[in-house]
Amino acid sequence: MPTRTAEPDGQPADAPFLLHRVRVAGRRRLSDGFVRITFRGPTLDRFADPGLDQRIKLVLPAPDGSLDDALFSPDWYGAWRSLPDDRRPVIRTYTTRAVRPEAREVDVDLVVHEPCGPAGRFATACREGDEAALLGPNRDAAVAGGGIDFRRPATSDRVLIAGDETALPAIVRILQDLPAAVRGAAVVEVPRREDAAQLPSHPGVAVEVVERGGAPHGERLTTAVRAAAGALLTARTGQEPEDVDVDAGLLWEVPGDGAVPAADGPFYAWLAGEAGVIKGLRRLLVGELGVDRRSVAFMGYWRAGRAEGG
Ligand SMILES: Cc1cc2nc3c(=O)[nH]c(=O)nc-3n(C[C@H](O)[C@H](O)[C@H](O)COP(=O)(O)OP(=O)(O)OC[C@H]3O[C@@H](n4cnc5c(N)ncnc54)[C@H](O)[C@@H]3O)c2cc1C
Repeated sequence: MPTRTAEPDGQPADAPFLLHRVRVAGRRRLSDGFVRITFRGPTLDRFADPGLDQRIKLVLPAPDGSLDDALFSPDWYGAWRSLPDDRRPVIRTYTTRAVRPEAREVDVDLVVHEPCGPAGRFATACREGDEAALLGPNRDAAVAGGGIDFRRPATSDRVLIAGDETALPAIVRILQDLPAAVRGAAVVEVPRREDAAQLPSHPGVAVEVVERGGAPHGERLTTAVRAAAGALLTARTGQEPEDVDVDAGLLWEVPGDGAVPAADGPFYAWLAGEAGVIKGLRRLLVGELGVDRRSVAFMGYWRAGRAEGG
């Protein structure tokens, strides 16, 4: 284990998240659509790695490559907010792909997309030695677990996992961390099949890669999720899933009103990607197929036509 470092810039030692000064240590093109950036920083031995869909923040340097020193203070967020607009760094949300505390390194896989944004530009243009900052979970946090949204009830041994390319790093980690006894399906839509080359297999989860090709974003994902959800419901009940007409009546189950507890649902579902597509999947699962919404995590990772936070 490396020698323990000082508290990063005076931040509380047991804070849930810590902001780390980092530099680009490597940049690798994984496929046409993905770049892996390896960040290295003196305090990254404190970066926790609970796996699953651990969310982190990437703080980008200004176009001239600088990162305001004022950020690195006990209250980094207060410092960030007080910076004038033209000096306030852009922050984007990502997923931990790998953590190597002994080398003080963290890998992040970034989608290269059109239209491009500041993070997409950084992914294609950054060079070894470029400055940035990473906000990540603290391995000494007083209360751990912040930033993980894959919360499968221990009693639920069936899963439905689905997402687009922005969810691919999270789906990779989830499949790696899922116990072998879990059964179900994982569906990922990517621009080109080779973008998903890093997806691992799982002994009980059927992993399906859907190539977008020229189809609208999410169209083929929705078709594949419909089939996978139908198969899981059939496997569980031995019947075709009930088709609910949401125009004829309100589909509503309120916890405590005699609704089936989420842990007893047909499966636990985790869905992430473009917000409009995820909204459609939510309608499909909950509205059409009648899945208990408390068994489903729906996450709009980005919104077409809108910058993060915009
Ligand atoms: C919890 C969470 C985890 C995430 N994990 C990852 C991850 O591991 N890897 C990853 O690549 N992304 C991930 N994302 C998505 C990422 O944060 C967004 O794609 C983000 O908008 C990229 O920032 P940007 O500066 O490149 O573009 P922005 O400045 O935010 O947006 C500029 C333009 O690009 C469009 N845009 C943004 N993302 C995409 C896209 N993927 N495809 C096409 N157009 C897009 C926007 O609609 C906008 O028009 C995650 C998001 C969340 C909430």
